[in-house]
Amino acid sequence: MTLSGIGVSPGVAIGPVFRVDRTEVTEPVAATPDEVFAALRAVADELEHRAETVSLDVARDVLSAQAMIARDPALIDALAARLTEAKTYSDVRPAVDGAFAGFKEALSALGDYFAERVADLDEIAQRTLAVLSGVEQSSLKLHEPSIIVATDLTPSDTAALDLNFAKALVVERGGPTSHTAIVARGLGIPAVVGCAGITELSVGTGILVDGRDGVIEINPTQEIVTARTTREDALRARAAAVQGPGRLLDKTPISLLANSGNAQDAVVAATAGAEGIGLFRTELLFLDREDEPTVAEQVALYSAVFDAMAGRRVVVRTLDAGSDKPVPFINAESEENPALGVRGWRLTRIADAVLNRQLDAIAQAAQNARADVWVMAPMIDTVAEAADFAARARKRGIRAVGVMIETPAAALLADKILAEVDFASLGTNDLTQYVMAADRLDSRLSDLTSSWHPAVLRIIGSAGDSAMTLSRPIGVCGEAAASPHLAAVLVGLGVTSLSMAPSALAEVRGFLAGVDRATCIKAAQAACNAASAEDAQAIARIILGD
Ligand code: PEP
Ligand code: MG
Repeated sequence: MTLSGIGVSPGVAIGPVFRVDRTEVTEPVAATPDEVFAALRAVADELEHRAETVSLDVARDVLSAQAMIARDPALIDALAARLTEAKTYSDVRPAVDGAFAGFKEALSALGDYFAERVADLDEIAQRTLAVLSGVEQSSLKLHEPSIIVATDLTPSDTAALDLNFAKALVVERGGPTSHTAIVARGLGIPAVVGCAGITELSVGTGILVDGRDGVIEINPTQEIVTARTTREDALRARAAAVQGPGRLLDKTPISLLANSGNAQDAVVAATAGAEGIGLFRTELLFLDREDEPTVAEQVALYSAVFDAMAGRRVVVRTLDAGSDKPVPFINAESEENPALGVRGWRLTRIADAVLNRQLDAIAQAAQNARADVWVMAPMIDTVAEAADFAARARKRGIRAVGVMIETPAAALLADKILAEVDFASLGTNDLTQYVMAADRLDSRLSDLTSSWHPAVLRIIGSAGDSAMTLSRPIGVCGEAAASPHLAAVLVGLGVTSLSMAPSALAEVRGFLAGVDRATCIKAAQAACNAASAEDAQAIARIILGD
C-alpha cells in the first residue's frame, strides 16, 4: 500500500514509524502578567540556549529567529495590551492567543514563505502556555533508526533532530517551504510533506520514504525496496558523472539555467554550473519595501546580478507582485481572489508608472552589462498584453523580449502571443494551479497540483508546438523543471531550456545526458495520453528506462 504527498528533500529511507505527538495546552491557564512575561523570557532563553548548542547552521538560524520573535518588543507590547484589556488572570490563554493572532495574520497575508512562518509563532505561544501550566512538551528522543511521523513538526523539533536515528521526515501538513522541508534539505535526509493518512499508521510500522517522488510505501516488499533504492543510487551516480552544458544523449542542447532572487543566489547558481539565470524574480528584492526603490537603486541591484553572471544569460522577470507575493508599495488593497486578481503584468492597470520605471532601470543596467540580458513579463494572458509589453521593452532598447506563459489562455494562444515576442517561459507552478483550479499553496490540494497531470502536460505541449512552428525558444522555470523525469517529458513537449533551483541542476543534467530526444517525445506522448498524474509519471518512467 502507498501514501503520497509532496517530496521536498530527495533520498530513500526505510525504518519504523516514530510518532511525535504534541501536547496542546487547552485548559484555562491562570497567571499574572509578570508570570506571562517571565514565561515568554524563559522560552526565549531556552531557544537561544538550543541555538548555541546545535551544530547545523540552518537549525541554528531557525532557533535564533524564534528567540528573536519571542523577544520582539512589539509582541510584548501587544501581549501587555491584551492582558490589561482582559482584566482577569484566571485564564490568560485568550490574551496570549490574541496577541499572537495579529502577528500571524500579518505573516499569513504575505503568503508563501512568510505564511509558513506562522508555525514559529504558534510554537512560541504554545511553549509559553506550557511553561505557565507546567505541561511537559514532548521531545524527540529516539532510541533506534526511525522515520519521524507527525501531523506537523514544530520548527524547533526539526532543528533538534538526532541525525544518528532520524532517517526521514513525513508530515501530514506543511508545504515545500515549511521548516520541515528546509531543515530536511539542510540535513540531507528524505522528507515528504502534505501526506494525508500518514498519522493513521501505528508506531513501529515499517515504511519506505521516497523523498524525491513524495511516496510512502507501507510494509514494502524487498522488490520495492530494491527498485526504489537502485533508482535513487543511479540518479545520484549519473549526477556526479556529467559536467558541462545541458544536452541530451543525441547531443541536442537543452540550456540548464537557475532561478534566482538576488546577486547572492546568482553566485550560488554560477558555482553550481548554471548556464545562466532563467528566472530572476525581481519582486523578491522588494517584498519588505514600503516605498518604491528609485531607478538608480534598482539599476544597482540588477547590475549586481548581471555582474555575477558575466558572459551568461540572465532572464529578468518584471515585478510579479500580487497574489502570494504582495509588495507593499503596489498592492495596498486586499482582493477577494488574489490569485485571480491584479498580479504580474496586470499591475499596469493600477501602477503603470512603477512598471515603466522598472523597465527603465532594467534597460539601463542591461546597457553596460557583460551578461546577455533577456527580459520577460509574468502572467501575460492576452495577445494585447504581450504586444504592449514588447513595445515598451523594445522602445527602451531591450533586445530579447519575452513573456511568461502561466495561464491556460496564454498557453492556448501561444502561436499568436509568440508572434509578438522573442521567447516564452512556462511558469508551470501557476499554469498548473490555473489548469487544475487548485490553490498552489494549499497542501490539502497537493494531489491536484501536480504538473504531471495530463491536462497540464497537454497544454504545455500545445504551447511547445507553437514555439517550434515559430522557431522561438520556450523554457520552463517552474518547479517542474527540477524533477529529472518530468524535465525529460518537458523536453519531449518542445521545451528548449529548463530553469530550476541550483541544487537540482546536477541531477537534471545527469538524467538528460542519458536520454535522446526521440525517447523524450515518446515519454511525453504516453504521459499526455494517461488518465491521471500518477499514471503519466509511471508510464513516462518506464519509457525513460527507469
Ligand atoms: C511559476 O509560476 O511557475 C513561476 C516560475 O513563477 P512564480 O513561482 O514566481 O509564481
Ligand atoms: Mg508564476
